[in-house]
Amino acid sequence: MSMIENGEIGQVQIQEQDNQILFTNSDNTEIYKTGILEDPYLTQRLYNAGAQFSGEIVEQMSPLLSLLLTWVLPIVIFIGIGQYMSKKLMQRAGGPNSMAFGMGKSNAKVYVKSSEGIKFDDVAGEEEAKENLREIVDYLHNPEKYREVGASMPKGILLVGPPGTGKTMLAKAVAGEADVPFFSMSGSEFVEMFVGMGAAKVRDLFRQAKEKAPCVVFIDEIDAIGKKRDSRVGGNDEREQTLNQLLTEMDGFEENSGVILLAATNRPESLDPALTRPGRFDRRVPVELPDLKGRESILKVHARKIRTAENIDYSAVARMASGASGAELANIVNEAALRTVREGRNTVTQADLEESIEVVIAGYQKKNAILTDKEKLIVAYHEIGHALVAAGQTHSAPVQKITIVPRTSGALGYTMQVKEGDHYLMSKEEIENKIATYTGGRAAEEIVFGSVTTGAANDIEQATRLARAMITRYGMSDELGMVALETVENQYLGGDTSLVCSAETQARVDRRTVELVKKQHQKAVKILTENREKLDELARFLYEKETITGEEFMSILNS
Ligand code: ADP
Repeated sequence: MSMIENGEIGQVQIQEQDNQILFTNSDNTEIYKTGILEDPYLTQRLYNAGAQFSGEIVEQMSPLLSLLLTWVLPIVIFIGIGQYMSKKLMQRAGGPNSMAFGMGKSNAKVYVKSSEGIKFDDVAGEEEAKENLREIVDYLHNPEKYREVGASMPKGILLVGPPGTGKTMLAKAVAGEADVPFFSMSGSEFVEMFVGMGAAKVRDLFRQAKEKAPCVVFIDEIDAIGKKRDSRVGGNDEREQTLNQLLTEMDGFEENSGVILLAATNRPESLDPALTRPGRFDRRVPVELPDLKGRESILKVHARKIRTAENIDYSAVARMASGASGAELANIVNEAALRTVREGRNTVTQADLEESIEVVIAGYQKKNAILTDKEKLIVAYHEIGHALVAAGQTHSAPVQKITIVPRTSGALGYTMQVKEGDHYLMSKEEIENKIATYTGGRAAEEIVFGSVTTGAANDIEQATRLARAMITRYGMSDELGMVALETVENQYLGGDTSLVCSAETQARVDRRTVELVKKQHQKAVKILTENREKLDELARFLYEKETITGEEFMSILNS
């Protein structure tokens, strides 16, 4: 507008389709551009200002540039994207040799620099296992020391033991103590639908590990791939290939390369011998169920995480929880904390811990009374029968506590045995006494009620199992002598047995077992008949109070 007023406009061109006006200054040296305004007098005014209307100041792109922009540039962009994508796919597939689309890549979880922060101190008990693994940690810290002497670390270490004893924790602790990367993978993760995929994963895992050395590679549940290869028709090709690849990789890396393999299993006997030969998983570290001291320290480790009262007697709790694994003890402590919250208090007490042992082992108390009075009386006599037979043989307190409150696990009564220490050996007499104790419940029912109930089913099973083991495994029968007639399979998972003898011997074993249990049953009946008054008195007490402790039991017995 001001240029029009000052008469400074040279040429003008109105481009209606582009919605713009181009114009020059009076000596045509500069081109200006502006949008079209809704102004009916514009033309007149331009004319008045002496502007020339012209078709010459066309501001057009050069034809070459426009060709480039409309045809060549898109093609270049597409080629670029294509290149980028194919490079990405290659990377994911782990190099040009692997299959495309990321198949065959190990998805091992890597915890660089012990991000979980588990140390040996967090794993309570298991001193022997830790002792064994400390050497590995020392090696990872200072491989030179070992190389100088020419000593080489075992390539693979197998952690064996029952479930929940802290095998995974120990492996993490090794990495945590050594402050090295930790690769963890479960054996079943290797096994894929397609044959060859597992082997590719193994290759990839080892490639990664070697890059990150020194490091710890942990394979949990290795029995999933390490099972004995057999010639059964239709054997698992994929699993065997994976195993073969693992064996080859373990041979492949040199000693002292800084990669330490740890593996865990609860079925060591099912592993392929090639996997456990020297040079592969040749060191075996047993991780057993914790003993009394171990249980106490595991309880203490886990109690650190909750708010407890000052005066808790952990050794008493540990004594009650005999046979519990580390995982069960962790669970017991947590149950106790939950119970505390449920009852609206803010510190966990001894009683909470004791109750939660019963919860973890036998289930919660059933709220509604489901027993009739008669049944309750029978249960009371039954439980006292066990305890009295036990006391009659050893002359000491046989139980910590008996309760006859039904539990959600289906147990009608619950007896907490005393175990002073851990026994490693049992004499023939002790086993016989134990069988007598098992039959004591049934014996009490017979004496008092003159009939029997189904309540003894579990006792009968246990007594029979012990009696049979005496004959077939411990060589404690005069007739059959020291011959192994049974083998134990799966020692860490229930310990099932299978008979290895002729049908004729089997019949003899059965006969002997029946005789043995019968004899102990008679012994139990004899003890109870001799102490009939005490039996009545104790059963009455339990029936009324529903709970009897070891001390109460002994004081009534000795009064
Ligand atoms: P596994 O691998 O032997 O089956 P884990 O190592 O996974 O058992 O242990 C399971 C859980 O049990 C752990 O997270 C821990 O809370 C507890 N636990 C087991 N053993 C111990 C132990 N010795 N000390 C402390 N906690 C333990």
